[in-house]
Amino acid sequence: MLPAVRARLFSPHLASLPLSPSHSLKSRSVALSLRSPFSHSSRQNPNPHAPAAKPAVSDAVKFVRTVLFVPPGVEPEEVTDDMILPGSNIVLGPYVGDAKIKEVEFVKSSSRPKDCPKDQRPEFAMLGRSNVGKSSLINALVRKKEVALTSKKPGKTQLINHFLVNRSWYIVDLPGYGFANAPESARMDWSSFTKGYFLNRETLVSVLLLIDASVPPQKIDLDCANWLGRNNIPITFVFTKCDKMKGGKGKRPDENIRKFQELIRENYRQHPPWIMTSSTTGLGRDELLLHMSQLRNYWDN
Ligand code: GDP
Repeated sequence: MLPAVRARLFSPHLASLPLSPSHSLKSRSVALSLRSPFSHSSRQNPNPHAPAAKPAVSDAVKFVRTVLFVPPGVEPEEVTDDMILPGSNIVLGPYVGDAKIKEVEFVKSSSRPKDCPKDQRPEFAMLGRSNVGKSSLINALVRKKEVALTSKKPGKTQLINHFLVNRSWYIVDLPGYGFANAPESARMDWSSFTKGYFLNRETLVSVLLLIDASVPPQKIDLDCANWLGRNNIPITFVFTKCDKMKGGKGKRPDENIRKFQELIRENYRQHPPWIMTSSTTGLGRDELLLHMSQLRNYWDN
């Protein structure tokens, strides 16, 4: 897909909707409670015999629409409550397709971006800090324990690992960054290793940037998100470990997510898609696959 087309995929209608500073606080709280502002009951027609009228749209609903990820094929004003994936800001549109994973096969490990598969299939790159829960999420998505273990084998952790799903698209496991306790020699030079991949990989539909929601925003994640944003790399924020409530101390996942979004806001003109997940409870798994299906199907068309 040409870069311009790719840009359109991830720069939908929201670009034109300004977010003033006075909106920002409000938007953050609305973004995290998307389902409450417009309940099903408020959209019901009180007189079932009356001709179907367009439901009234409150300011709150109009505002919530400005923080949503509205995919191609949907106009923001068409969005209704049941089009929004729970635990996310993602609207489902006409490109949603079969999201089931029927088979997955490890294809190859590449040490350089130019060694990656050249068959032009669309791909999603999974990226995150070491220990963010990337292997667990990949295993949960494909429902196989051994898949992400491949990339944990010694020697494969610094490689770009391609997994072919349903013989039609790839999940790409990228090296984790920021090994907190590793000696300097074992730390990955993420910048030189993967920057080329992000900047040149034509078949990259979206980076799934995994962020641990059980801890407050980390500088290294913010740096990574900001770099991707500045370089217009399509991104979906996947918050992991959303089941985890630190016993009394620390912040709750939704507070950490809100803070993270606040901190990356200035590098994104629109709200990137984001979704809450837990590999322990299965939260967000099916929803994330649906989101990926609509991005993929749009890319394919
Ligand atoms: P990776 O280094 O990013 O591949 O992370 P792993 O998948 O190996 O997970 C790191 C640690 O976080 C392990 O102890 C996992 O059991 C734990 N973990 C991963 N996902 C979740 C989750 O959704 N909830 C909770 N509570 N723990 C998780």
